[in-house]
Amino acid sequence: MTTQTRDLFSKFDPLIAEREALLATGVRDPFAIVMDEVKSPTQAVIKGKDTILLGTYNYMGMTFDPDVIAAGKKALDDFGAGTTGSRLLNGTYQGHKEVEEALKDFYGTSGAMVFSTGYQANLGMISTLAGKGDYVVLDADSHASIYDGCFLGDAEIVRFRHNSVEDLDKRLGRLPADALKLVVLEGVYSMLGDVAPLPDMVAAVRKHPNCMILVDEAHGMGFFGPNGRGVYEEQGVEKDVDFVVGTFSKSVGTVGGFCVSNHPKFEVLRLVCRPYVFTASLPPSVVATAATSIRKLMHAGEKRAHLWKNSQRLHKGLTDLGFRLGTETPQSAIIAVILTDQAQAVAMWQTLLELGLYVNMARPPATPAGTFLLRCSLCAEHSDEQVGQIIAMFEAAGRATGAIG
Ligand code: PMP
Repeated sequence: MTTQTRDLFSKFDPLIAEREALLATGVRDPFAIVMDEVKSPTQAVIKGKDTILLGTYNYMGMTFDPDVIAAGKKALDDFGAGTTGSRLLNGTYQGHKEVEEALKDFYGTSGAMVFSTGYQANLGMISTLAGKGDYVVLDADSHASIYDGCFLGDAEIVRFRHNSVEDLDKRLGRLPADALKLVVLEGVYSMLGDVAPLPDMVAAVRKHPNCMILVDEAHGMGFFGPNGRGVYEEQGVEKDVDFVVGTFSKSVGTVGGFCVSNHPKFEVLRLVCRPYVFTASLPPSVVATAATSIRKLMHAGEKRAHLWKNSQRLHKGLTDLGFRLGTETPQSAIIAVILTDQAQAVAMWQTLLELGLYVNMARPPATPAGTFLLRCSLCAEHSDEQVGQIIAMFEAAGRATGAIG
């Protein structure tokens, strides 16, 4: 291999330098955390220390559910470790059909299609639905998988200001009336934990011809709405949404992605959607755990209530301590703490870790408006005692780093 002064890696030099400078200050690498042991949905051992997990998006705590684990073990024994093939060829097992049936029952839809990840579900749905001459209209703060779905496809991309009904309406009004448009929304936006005003957005979209609506409910599934379908169910717009995309990597507690829909031609997508066709299907153990978890989530009213209680208590606790949060009131199970700069965010993150609390750190360009965030995601399995400990650790870390007075 040649070592040149300038090569394809040169564009990463500023990032490498920034990272080296940060690590030289003695902080731990926020992006190199290893879970040595995971004891429960809310507890792990990190570098020998018992740590409360508050940044996993494991909202309903299904990762250690005994029925879910038993289903996975049985499928591993009965069907082997992997499918070694595409859904379209040798990779559709009975378990893939069963998880799609579970999704149809959960969402009350006629169609369900399972992908290998939620990322691929967005890539596949957006790039396949919206083709040349069509438009994808999306919120500026959309998840990377939504943007990447746009980049993979041939449609024109139109962004509107985050959660702005007025801007959505304005931008749709500028598009040719006869063009086909896919409007992509999210139920919960995961950076700040804020919820979309879906009824107003749907009303704005319906003023314009030839629009279909896709809602990503990655962070809403499991605990919004009477059946846990998501924000679109809670806000009563089920009939207006054409496609719901979701993931198994949050409330469901494993890995995988999906899209559900009532469209009569939905099944044709299995033949034409490249991120569905040209990749191996999920292992039998994963689809078995997902199907069991989804069916249990249909009866998870108590867990849901406890999760909301946890979210409200943490939001109030952090507000009372003087932290600036992503939303004025608790809107979801994500509570984002906004810090002034990278140094403060890293100092808080590391102090919390040393005290025994793991949260997610996020920084630009992933975050909106150049913010540095500590993102907390609550779990239905966090006990009252743990929420008390979390608030106490935030107080100690905030005082030690000067983030609060
Ligand atoms: N959509 C949103 C809004 C997400 O936050 C994520 C994951 N963070 C995904 C899709 C992708 O999900 P997965 O982890 O299954 O790839």
